[in-house]
Formats: sequence, C-alpha cells, structure tokens
Amino acid sequence: MIKISEPYMDEAELQNVIDAVKSGWISSKGAYITEFEQKFAGYCGVNNGIATSNGTAALHLALKALGIKKDDEVIVPTLTFISTANTVSYCGAKPVFVDSHPVYWCMDPEKIEEKITENTKAIIPVHLYGHPCDMDPIMEIAKDHDLYVVEDAAEAHGAEYKGKKVGSFGDINCFSFFANKVITTGEGGMCLTDDDELAERMRILRDHGMNPNRKYWHDVIGFNYRMTNMQAAVGVAQLEKIEKIIELKRLNAEYYNYLLKNINENTITLPVEEKWARNVYWMYSILVNHRINRDDLMKKLEQAGIDTRPLFYPVHKMPPYLGGVFPVAEAVSKMGISLPSSPNLMLSEIERVCDVLFNIMSE
Ligand SMILES: *Cc1c(COP(=O)(O)O)cnc(C)c1O
Repeated sequence: MIKISEPYMDEAELQNVIDAVKSGWISSKGAYITEFEQKFAGYCGVNNGIATSNGTAALHLALKALGIKKDDEVIVPTLTFISTANTVSYCGAKPVFVDSHPVYWCMDPEKIEEKITENTKAIIPVHLYGHPCDMDPIMEIAKDHDLYVVEDAAEAHGAEYKGKKVGSFGDINCFSFFANKVITTGEGGMCLTDDDELAERMRILRDHGMNPNRKYWHDVIGFNYRMTNMQAAVGVAQLEKIEKIIELKRLNAEYYNYLLKNINENTITLPVEEKWARNVYWMYSILVNHRINRDDLMKKLEQAGIDTRPLFYPVHKMPPYLGGVFPVAEAVSKMGISLPSSPNLMLSEIERVCDVLFNIMSE
C-alpha cells in the first residue's frame, strides 16, 4: 500500500526524545519547549511562539486572547478542516462562511467584504493544502474594517506569499504539528505573534489562566493547552529538516505534474502555484472532471494499493453548520482527491500512482 502520508523522521527525533525523558522534564516545562518556540517563530520571521497541545487548541487560544466572544462573527472559508469553524463556535461566536477562489481554492478575497457586518471581529484565512491565501487584499480589508486576522497555517509551514512566510501576516497565526502535517510533534500546535502583550496573554490562558507571579492564583478562566517537552523535542529535530521536507514535497509535486499533464486536460485539473506563492503541497491534490465518479475512482485506487483522501467537505454542508450556497467550494470538494504525499515517496511510487490513475481513466 502506498500511504497517503508518513512522517519524515530519523534518529535525531529519537535522540531528542530520549534526552527529554532522561532530563526528567516530560510535562510542559523543559528546555525543548522554549527552544522549539523560539526556533519555529524565528523560522517564520515572528517574535513570539506559544506552543500548544494541538492546532485546534492554538486557534481557540488565539481567538480567546483576541477577546472573541458570544455573538461576535468571524469570517472563515467554508472549504477547510472543521477546526477553523469549531474554534469560533467554542468562543460562542458565529463562523460566517466565504467561498473558495476557483484557481487556488483558498478563501476568495473578493467575496469577503459582502460578509462583514457590525458584529464581525476577525477573519481567519486558511492556507489550504499548502497554498497561501492572497494576503494583500485580505489584510487591506481587515485594516479598512478594523478586524483582526488570524492565519490558519496548519497546512502550510514554510509556504510563502510574495517571499514572506505564512504565519507572519496576521495578529496571531496558528500552526498544527499533527502527524500528517509538514512537520510534526505527534500532536501539537503553535501560535505566533509579534505582539508581546498578546503573547503573554496566550501563555497565561494556556496555563489555566494562572497568574505567572502567584502560584495557583487564577485571574481568568484558562485552559490546559500546553505542549509537552517530549513533543517539543521531536519538533526541534523536525525543524532541522523542514526545508528538506519542503524541497522533497515540491519535487514530488513537480514529478506528479509532469506525469499527469499527459492525461487529458479536460479530465484532471492539477494543483497550481500562483505567481506570488510558494506552495508547499501539504497534500498533493487534483480535481477530476465532474463526469468521473470521484468516490469510485478512489475505491479503484485503493484496490490497486494506493491510499487517497477526498478533499474536505465544505463546512456549510455538515449538520452543525448547515446553510448557504458556495458553488466553488462545493464543486472543488466534490471533484478533489489528495494523492500520496509523503516527502519520502519514491519516484517509482509516483509513477505507479500515475499509471494506475491513467489506466482507470482510460477504461
Ligand atoms: C490540521 C488542521 C487544524 C487542526 O490541527 P489539530 O492539530 O489536528 O488540532 C486546523 N486547521 C486546519 C486547516 C488543519 O488542516
């Protein structure tokens, strides 16, 4: 079976974990946490990193630190992983959905302004499948309407917009280090911000709202959203190889593109990289023509030993959030398939995936 995604690790991760365990610092104090926070924030060009237990916790922490509360509205793309919308709901606020851009699938900046009301407090652009959002118009809209921006960069570590890393544009920006993300700590996440005050607020909220100068004194209701030193130990080793991982993912995407462009253009749409973008191809995802039954195709690929995933269902199509019509996201979601995307895929495996795809398509 060619797997959809495997973590890219070696002895270095193991050695760091052994070191963390031997140090006795296995919970959320320990040198690896600060090191990982500082190095990952530095990699993204941001001043402060606040490591969390997962990416969902990072998003929730960010929204809480910005004061998002009951009856506020937060603008999110409908085509995203469910966390983006759920964390808005956790605050008692309402996610307001925006359709996708037809070419690169992230939220369409032209469709944001029509969603803004007097209750709107923030926009969460999601850099979907490794491709960045068009940040200039989004930041401009946010400025014009006095809205916070929280980037959801869970799928796009190292992706760039006009040469600048994603995760460095918004007021607070969030990453996930789940096992299938660009780099991983098993479970894990991080908030980045240049604002020292917001950083301090997040550190307190992450630690049960405990006053940093008065043990067991809680000024606010916080959470236990801390990362462990063992996870951070893995993160430090992963960060050493992040550029290698991205390079491999980009080479794999290039090879997929090269092989798949031989299949009739009307049958498959390949992922893009806009002029202003560095795509990290988190999941190499294609669209198949609407005349092809996507789910049948996935079943046949599975029978041939190839693991795939459908693209996300638009959030507005699922029970907790039903309502609205977002034609681009609905079409992209129905036609989309993610192909095996591990950094260490062999070229022969990519060839096999494309051969099988080609054969099924020409049946
Ligand atoms: C993975 C992901 C998250 C959540 O991360 P977890 O670490 O799984 O909680 C949030 N947003 C997007 C877009 C994601 O892909």
